Amino acid sequence: MTNNTTPREVFSFTFKWWMFLFIAVLVPLDFIYRCGALLASLFPWQLAQNFSALILFFAILALGLAGVSAAFSLLGARRDSHGAEIVSKINVIIGLSFVIIIFFDYVWRWVKITFDIHSIVKSGKLGLLITFLLLIISSIIIIIIYKRLFAKIDKLFSIVRSSYKIIAPLFILCSITSLLIISYNIFSYYRENGANQTSFEGQRIQQPPNIIIITFDALAARYTSLHEYHLQTTPNLDKLGRESYVFDNMYASSNWTLPSLASLLTGKYPSNHKLNEEMSYFGRTSGRQNLPFLLRKMSYETAVVWSNPPYSCPWENNLVGFDQVLPNSTITKLLFESGLGPTPWLNNLISESRFYKIFYAISDLWQYRADQIKTFLRANFSLAKASELITKFRKPFFLWVHLYPPHAPYLANSDFLYTVLPERVFDTKDSYNRPLWYAPEEQPVIDQLFKRYEEYICDTDHEFGRFLTFMKENQVLNNTILIVSSDHGELFERGFWSHGGPYLYEPLIHVPLIIHLPGQTQGKRLGSIASTADLAPTILDLLGVKPPGWMDGQSLKPAWQDGDFDPGVKFSMKLSYLSSSRDPKFLTKSIGAIRGNYELIKYLDLNQYERYDIKNDKILKELSPDEEKIFSLLQKELNRIPSK
Ligand SMILES: [Zn+2]
Repeated sequence: MTNNTTPREVFSFTFKWWMFLFIAVLVPLDFIYRCGALLASLFPWQLAQNFSALILFFAILALGLAGVSAAFSLLGARRDSHGAEIVSKINVIIGLSFVIIIFFDYVWRWVKITFDIHSIVKSGKLGLLITFLLLIISSIIIIIIYKRLFAKIDKLFSIVRSSYKIIAPLFILCSITSLLIISYNIFSYYRENGANQTSFEGQRIQQPPNIIIITFDALAARYTSLHEYHLQTTPNLDKLGRESYVFDNMYASSNWTLPSLASLLTGKYPSNHKLNEEMSYFGRTSGRQNLPFLLRKMSYETAVVWSNPPYSCPWENNLVGFDQVLPNSTITKLLFESGLGPTPWLNNLISESRFYKIFYAISDLWQYRADQIKTFLRANFSLAKASELITKFRKPFFLWVHLYPPHAPYLANSDFLYTVLPERVFDTKDSYNRPLWYAPEEQPVIDQLFKRYEEYICDTDHEFGRFLTFMKENQVLNNTILIVSSDHGELFERGFWSHGGPYLYEPLIHVPLIIHLPGQTQGKRLGSIASTADLAPTILDLLGVKPPGWMDGQSLKPAWQDGDFDPGVKFSMKLSYLSSSRDPKFLTKSIGAIRGNYELIKYLDLNQYERYDIKNDKILKELSPDEEKIFSLLQKELNRIPSK
């Protein structure tokens, strides 16, 4: 039925067949599935760049399949005159099965994000009946479509054969777009390196200290013994704290990973750095406005050990400034350096597909992915990488290590698992697959989940303790500024667990902050409020360098040097919607302005305010005259923040 008799015809048909399936079926299905996220996250030129990368990737894949098919038909033709035709038929069968699988897959994903499957299933017989009916109806529709398709299969083939009229120009357009992007990047690279435009080069300091930043993912200050929690969850942080500056009122610039870590590196608030949506990444200029980029200009060697991609991996954020990136991948690095990356659309499409193992197997992305998996659950893999790097640096270094623990799933290793909660619940990865919001009667279940979190903090602190010992034994701390913090906290109350919703309450944004200066032995607790956006300016200040104007944060050095230091107002922002929730109370962006013990929270889409006592985790109903004054000041500050 395909009428391909020579290997050349097989090559041409297979290429066109797969390009047709990818471009006419897979790309539109994927676009429909994630168009909301794509359009919210990417600027139009970023979308064009991602689309070009996607088409080029599929063209390479189709070429590979066509090559393999042509080789097989060459072999087959020797034995049987129908060899070539058989290969084509196999391609047709595999292709149609592929379409059926991905069609069902995307329909199922779409149903899952559109309907609240967990509550439908839990709502009993009616919910199950609705789910069952939906599945039956969609199956019938698909069967009808396929029956028609098979009846007119020859027509389909003629469409495939003539589809090159559209596919070929599209392919050329995408290649030109990609070439333009690469040329522009090479051109700017030379222009940038040719011009002497840095104002930081003159500020080289005599004996620069090393800088190490350790961030834990989702470590809430209130559950650490560093902040007087009733359990001894963080003995090693406590130990470091006794010989460091400990900020008792440090607030994350957001309640989830991406915007908060972007603030840490840029010194900008989320309203300014604009990395607020799942797939968003820095532009050309903004990708160079960050601490490691400045330090590199000051002759620092810069390195990152990342986890929780794509939020802390500079290749996926388009952040320029790190000499070494671990885990490492040649292909991703090449994409990044040529300027063709980041490609979050392609990355998400592949990593969420059932076929991703095939893609990863054909490159060193396999190792990249394996390393990525090792950074989950245990901190020891990332910390071992960090220790190895520390022994190898040749000049003053800046090292940032982002540790995935104690982020969910809270699966401590066997020394700590079951120590707080002996029951055999929430001890597998799948058991954490539950909605973030819950009904009040489910609180006892969430309390169990919370006990696992306590165990996991103990485990994470234990791993950190071993790293601290390594640093002490190797005299690393004598000439190193060490900063330990977290990107946000974690919530287990008010009908919401985990992080990333619209709330900006104390458990979600109050995080630890320890600053240990070179050789410091005397500790000090500091009460002044601090923000993630303050860390980059603080480091520059400690090096005697004036922070650039684009940083929003301020140096915290006066907090321990200057008795009457006024830290002003700090902000925490959640400037994206919580996906997978249709509850209107979750469908809002929010900003909190903090001063002293108070936070004014604005829910932007609801146009509602909450006057909140962040010290005591309490929403205030009545205000004293002094409180009235503070909240009216916070109101003024809030009004100055652009919310888009
Ligand atoms: Zn996080």
